[in-house]
Amino acid sequence: MTATSLDKIVGLAKRRGFVFPSSEIYGGLASTWDYGPYGVLLKNNLKNFWWQAMVQQRDDIVGLDAAILMHPRTWEASGHVDSFSDPLIECRNCHNRFRSDDLPELVCPICGQRDNFTEPKNFNLLMKTFLGTTEDAKSAVYLRGETCQGIYVNFKNIIQTSRVKIPFGIAQIGKAFRNEITPGNFIFRMREFEQMEMQFFCRPDEAAKFFELWKEERWNWYKKLGFNLSNLRFKPHEKLAHYAKAAVDIEYQTSFGWKETEGIHNRGDWDLSRHGKFSGKDLNYFDEQSKEKFTPFVVETSVGVDRLMLMMLFDAYEEEVTIDEDSGQEEVRVILHLAKEIAPVKMAILPLLKNKPELVEVSKKLYNELKATGRMIEYDESGAIGRRYRRQDEIGTPYCVTIDFQSLDDHMVTIRDRDSMKQERVPIEEVNNFLS
Ligand code: ATP
Repeated sequence: MTATSLDKIVGLAKRRGFVFPSSEIYGGLASTWDYGPYGVLLKNNLKNFWWQAMVQQRDDIVGLDAAILMHPRTWEASGHVDSFSDPLIECRNCHNRFRSDDLPELVCPICGQRDNFTEPKNFNLLMKTFLGTTEDAKSAVYLRGETCQGIYVNFKNIIQTSRVKIPFGIAQIGKAFRNEITPGNFIFRMREFEQMEMQFFCRPDEAAKFFELWKEERWNWYKKLGFNLSNLRFKPHEKLAHYAKAAVDIEYQTSFGWKETEGIHNRGDWDLSRHGKFSGKDLNYFDEQSKEKFTPFVVETSVGVDRLMLMMLFDAYEEEVTIDEDSGQEEVRVILHLAKEIAPVKMAILPLLKNKPELVEVSKKLYNELKATGRMIEYDESGAIGRRYRRQDEIGTPYCVTIDFQSLDDHMVTIRDRDSMKQERVPIEEVNNFLS
């Protein structure tokens, strides 16, 4: 079990500007969150890391960015209007509401009363909104409940315009919305969140093979991201959803239990055949080689950006008791051991003293040179050097560079490594190479 409590992650996220409650000055809005300066950098790096692996470095996957608002028939075809619901029950004593499938026994987690709930009511998770300007001309549409539907409805467009041939995938990153009954645990379950989904279209007789292949590919991606693999596991689904032929989750061990971070599903031909039927368009695939026409099967990998970010913070967080280099007092050093590709800031440039113009000049020159290479670099001259290191450790900056008086003579600077805290003297013109 990870030792880190959720409170510590929430505290760090707020303190260092990773995540804020949405519209906080108005008291916040339940289960919606805003990403602050370091949060947005971290999130963009994470999305980029996924996009690189899933689109950029492959020949068989193309990207897409479909609209959040879609024709309402989409959600009838997908089955969401009928069955995208959770069983909602209410405690008759304290009137709190729960998902009945969340409660192993019918005991209220708030007031403790047993067997005193309303009958389960199906509660649809789709969020409705209205298009149109005048009241009578308004029509109801839904905010998409998952991003993959935008992929299925563009299957034909992509087949016709890109030179893809089965087997191939379409990948997309974007917002999804669900009116969750029990949101919470910070950014674990939100009502507005972001998904990274890839739908891989293949011959029906190859779907089982690709399902296994994608399990392996995705596992290796977590490994590359630097996850502690003993905190991850595969969990096959006990009950399959209406569309699924096979399904497995990648789970992470959080302080509140093993929780799904990603789903990998063999969805059969459910999606394309349903959209074919509801739209009246032919969404079958014609295989030039075998001269066969068939409805492709879909193997999907689907991960939430926000949820993954939470898991990553759990995995990276460490507290270490140290003696402060300046005051000599014991203090807690918080370190985020984030993968270097993901860390919001790659390097911090720290002149030893801020009131020595020679040090500041050399430091700012280096800072501007490194920034011009397109990386996120931070310049920090305020406070004792130990404190400045600590500030960078807490946001996961892999390297700090200190410019001291000796640097003015020998043109060498000290690079300090976040994880080992080892310090190395490097010629100033070598810092860029070092970082590369
Ligand atoms: P859960 O069982 O936790 O409700 P799910 O099985 O409904 O999740 P999917 O529909 O498979 O989830 O969505 C794929 C991924 O999207 C999930 O693995 C998760 O990472 C993310 N996700 C789903 N719902 C939310 C949410 N409300 N907030 C944040 N991320 C979510």
